[in-house]
Amino acid sequence: MRIELDEATCSSLGMCEAVAPAFFEVGDDGALVVLQSEAGEEQRALLEQAVAACPTAALRLVP
Ligand code: SF4
Repeated sequence: MRIELDEATCSSLGMCEAVAPAFFEVGDDGALVVLQSEAGEEQRALLEQAVAACPTAALRLVP
């Protein structure tokens, strides 16, 4: 699956990083960096938690 970030919606709050630090990192400039935008099915449960934790609904898993 692919992780999509809507940069316009992201508020760099870092909730996704707290859930899945291997995938998300808020940089020194305050912008969220998606460290890995492709993930296997074994990561789906974790990434769904990260998506659910985002208060601005800026993350999406495709498909
Ligand atoms: S939790 Fe949402 S708003 Fe916060 S950094 Fe992650 S994607 Fe951006």
